[in-house]
Amino acid sequence: MVQSSVLGFPRIGGQRELKKVTEAYWSGKATVEELLETGKSLRAHNWKLQKEAGVDIIASNDFSFYDQVLDLSLLFNVVPDRYTKFDLAPIDVLFAMGRGLQRKATETTAAVDVTALEMVKWFDSNYHYVRPTFSHSTEFKLNSVAKPVVEFNEAKALGIHTRPVILGPVSYLYLGKADKDSLDLDPITLLEKILPVYKQLLSELKAAGANQVQIDEPILVLDLPESVKEKFQVAYDALVSESAPELTLTSYFGDVRPNLKAIESLPVAGFHFDFVRVPEQFNEVSSILKGEQTLSVGIVDGRNIWKTDFSKAAKFIKAAVEKVGAEKVIVATSSSLLHTPVDLENETKLEPIIKDWFSFATQKVSEVVVLAKEASGDDVATEFAANAASIKSRVESSITTNPKVQERLATINESLATRQSPFPERLAVQKEKYNLPLFPTTTIGSFPQTKDIRVNRNKFTKGTITAEEYETFINKEIETVIRFQEEIGLDVLVHGEPERNDMVQYFGEQLKGFAFTTNGWVQSYGSRYVRPPIIVGDVSRPKNMTVKESVYAQSLSKSPVKGMLTGPVTILRWSFPRDDVSGKVQALQLGLALRDEVTDLEAAGITVIQVDEPAIREGLPLRAGQERSDYLNWAAQSFRVATSGVDNSTQIHSHFCYSDLDPNHIKALDADVVSIEFSKKDDPKYIQEFSDYPNHIGLGLFDIHSPRIPSKEEFVARVEEILKVYPAANFWFNPDCGLKTRGWPEVRESLTNMVNAAKEFRAKY
Ligand code: GLN
Ligand code: ZN
Repeated sequence: MVQSSVLGFPRIGGQRELKKVTEAYWSGKATVEELLETGKSLRAHNWKLQKEAGVDIIASNDFSFYDQVLDLSLLFNVVPDRYTKFDLAPIDVLFAMGRGLQRKATETTAAVDVTALEMVKWFDSNYHYVRPTFSHSTEFKLNSVAKPVVEFNEAKALGIHTRPVILGPVSYLYLGKADKDSLDLDPITLLEKILPVYKQLLSELKAAGANQVQIDEPILVLDLPESVKEKFQVAYDALVSESAPELTLTSYFGDVRPNLKAIESLPVAGFHFDFVRVPEQFNEVSSILKGEQTLSVGIVDGRNIWKTDFSKAAKFIKAAVEKVGAEKVIVATSSSLLHTPVDLENETKLEPIIKDWFSFATQKVSEVVVLAKEASGDDVATEFAANAASIKSRVESSITTNPKVQERLATINESLATRQSPFPERLAVQKEKYNLPLFPTTTIGSFPQTKDIRVNRNKFTKGTITAEEYETFINKEIETVIRFQEEIGLDVLVHGEPERNDMVQYFGEQLKGFAFTTNGWVQSYGSRYVRPPIIVGDVSRPKNMTVKESVYAQSLSKSPVKGMLTGPVTILRWSFPRDDVSGKVQALQLGLALRDEVTDLEAAGITVIQVDEPAIREGLPLRAGQERSDYLNWAAQSFRVATSGVDNSTQIHSHFCYSDLDPNHIKALDADVVSIEFSKKDDPKYIQEFSDYPNHIGLGLFDIHSPRIPSKEEFVARVEEILKVYPAANFWFNPDCGLKTRGWPEVRESLTNMVNAAKEFRAKY
């Protein structure tokens, strides 16, 4: 019999229960008991759902209150001292590490002020994990309340036998970093020290009754140095033992072949590979199986929302069965389903024809089961026939194809993607035109999305207020933001984006070729979830999308107000993309649509325009090689298609979240000013890396994921550090990213301190 397996299920709840209770807890409106209870009931719900669907291998420990990597750091005592000295409850330590904590002293408790740990993208996804942060004084030890064991027992009590999932030691260390007091420490050298703790955890799981563990080593899809590759053998020779459950070594999101040597002799019980992303690796990776080792075939996409093509998948599984034997094949999701929305049944507004093409986490669970049944010889003819009809309907639909868009796409050439003059010439005219001071100050775009804004947007969506009433409301918000920025002395203003629910969805809703969900939330980090639009067909722009708000904002001020757009790569990356045409085609179509928006803004007098590309880094193919260089070419080209239709005097800005970008990749966009997230980059080598960036740049000066307020002195100290290597003439002052998730009081203070710091530097230089 061929078994079925789901590598992980979304933990947020079908109605975002986790977000609601977590945020209520943070604001003091829910108790810790309510928080924990909600977590427990979500876990129970997800396990039962999978059990009832007939999944053979169900994951546990896929739940988290913030992030599964952060959970592991708490489990292993990888908690920097700065978080332990306040005597916080364990759950509060977790949140402090995830999002920082600033709390005034009370009669009974001392003041708390700690920044969050660095948060980075999980491989090429839009999920973020909290980086394990090690120092010489890190002492690994297993927490007395071991979460994976607790949750295994919890499922067991419900009569559900689960397979706990744990991030493996090599990936855990490799994905971490050295703390600022221990910059010479290479985390991978800690392997020998961490292995005993992993062993202890595994033996506790075994004692609790777990006979299998899914051990994730996702770094196997990266280019790894030899010094890391050789650690796999060391690690798994130590972990595989009589006292440990059987281990399934799990990789996803890419190609393992270049690292196959590192794992081919591991004594594990089985392997899991992602054959959705890289079906070509099947022959090579399946050849490493020896003896009883099992092959978990990741064939149901954990990263996208399209229905699995059953007939194709079944062929693939059949080949696997023929090669390794039915009793050793497991049909699985390609990765955890964390990256997909919870349940298509929650969608009531989707056009039925289009809805029929989709499959969310709950539906994918069934897909895995049906495919395993088919491979076991069970009768699933009805399910297969329905699936074939859906697949056919999509292939033949006219919704996907727009000949006009395809014609225009064919006209793209280098000149369409090149500004009139090189940067130095543009800079000269822009200096004259805008007359900005040294160290110009600006923000990234959004201002706090207050409750008032959400309430009014909801009313407008529901039709309880009219379009005019809504517009009046939005204009009032814009005015507040403009007046605030003028008052504290920012130089280049923004309108604050109050009309936008989300920086991608807002554009998707106005472009043709997209579909939307009402409940298709996916966790991005912590309690922040996104609702990615779905690209279903060729993309075009029926009419302008942002001119009205930008023109209104500019009419209120003599300072330049930035037009604010989301770039083509980011719209593509933060949507669920088509799987029937390439990413390149989709990005260039978006580039053309945005080009028209940029030139419309310019014509309307908005001549400082920011085109955000925060997702450009995460889209980078995980391995060096042809695919990566192709990506870099089309990503930059689609940005330049969008931004090159303007005059030299129009100042194009761009913004990127995360600075572990290669400055060369940013150069290729040829924006006049870029801002990048930077405040968590403690290591001076990063400043160095950007020091010869030729155009203007703002290295983000404060963390916007945290409510913490940096003082003016803190800004000054940081910028002094930066200006040791960085040319003052090119340097802008800005936060890391948009301020939409923050509250007004902290935004007011942080920005005031930042502007005052800039003034201090102007006086000095
Ligand atoms: N302009 C956007 C904002 O400020 C950029 C957000 C982002 O980079 N993620 O919200
Ligand atoms: Zn950003």
